[in-house]
Amino acid sequence: MSLDHLPAAVDLIARLRTAERRVDHEIKTLLNVIQEQMNIGVEEAERKERDTRIAVIGLSLLALAVGLLLTWLSNRALRPIAGLTEAAQRLGRGAPDVVAVPEGGGDELALLAHEFNAMAQRLAARERELRAQGEALVRSERLAAIGRIAAQITHEIRNPLSSISLNAEELGERLRGSQEPGAAALCDAIVREVDRLAVVTEEYLRYARLPKPQLVRADLNEAVRDLLDFVRPELTSAGISLEQRLAQDLPEVLADVGQIRQLLLNLIRNAREAMAGGGAVLVGTRFAEGDVFVEVRDSGPGIPPERLARIFDPFFTTKERGTGLGLALAQEIAQEHSGQLTASSIVGQGTIFTLRLPRAPEERAALVTAAAAEIARTG
Ligand code: ADP
Ligand code: MG
Repeated sequence: MSLDHLPAAVDLIARLRTAERRVDHEIKTLLNVIQEQMNIGVEEAERKERDTRIAVIGLSLLALAVGLLLTWLSNRALRPIAGLTEAAQRLGRGAPDVVAVPEGGGDELALLAHEFNAMAQRLAARERELRAQGEALVRSERLAAIGRIAAQITHEIRNPLSSISLNAEELGERLRGSQEPGAAALCDAIVREVDRLAVVTEEYLRYARLPKPQLVRADLNEAVRDLLDFVRPELTSAGISLEQRLAQDLPEVLADVGQIRQLLLNLIRNAREAMAGGGAVLVGTRFAEGDVFVEVRDSGPGIPPERLARIFDPFFTTKERGTGLGLALAQEIAQEHSGQLTASSIVGQGTIFTLRLPRAPEERAALVTAAAAEIARTG
């Protein structure tokens, strides 16, 4: 290389150094910028991370709260179901009258609870009805058995009884003028006792052979009026006043008037027997809720509750010479008429016997039914 080029080379080196410094500076500046950018980026990322973490925590808390709320709500909604389930189990164990679930709220579950309660009530009513029917059946079977035995015994002793009575009477007549003054009186006593036995056996027979009632349309007012005219003398002579209170426009019933008369007569005789020192008997009729009622009230001593529960049992009597069949027969008659005979009493005030009979169907309705049956029969 020639020396002519030296200055140019020095100059070039100088320029190169300047350029290098500039480049150096630029690179530094650039590095600074990059560093700054990186710092900003990192900060941004850190901020975002922080935000995200907060959001995640917030969302988790929210989810937890929603979960808790849902659990609470479903628990609240399902609580009646638990009650219903428990009630259904109790129902299944067979105690419908003690089952009742709360019917709060206005939703489907409340409706279900309402329906459930209604069902439990219907079941309870049905159960009571069945129990009553069962008891009535047992009673009527027992009555039927007693009836058969009574009929047999009565049959065996009725004829001998009447000949004993006749013979004793005859003997009494012969002894009357004889030396033995007490002999005729003894015969009279025999006749009285034998006659009483005959009456008792008659009652047994009537009870044992109670025929199926022959139902016809009947006016109970008329039957009561007739009967009271018949018993008034015997009550009056026992110091008992007799009052009748008959409802106007009493609907007719389907009844065997002879049997109903027997039933009422038993009630009135019991009232008379309960009031040895006199008193009052009131016989009334009324119409209520589709049924016809006859009531026999007395002002006698009343019946204590533990005895009231047994008075309809056959052979239950508190009288020295009672048969205990009067009320059993009366109730049998009521039931044969699809009716009911009940008693209520307050000791010291008196007793009320109530006979309920269904009213007879409307004459026109009965005719229509009969016509329909006729058409169905003949086609
Ligand atoms: P009996 O008259 O033969 O005793 P019942 O069946 O007619 O049989 O009556 C049963 C019992 O019911 C009677 O013995 C009596 O104790 C009671 N009783 C019935 N009616 C009355 C009444 N009106 N007042 C008080 N007790 C009564
Ligand atoms: Mg009686």
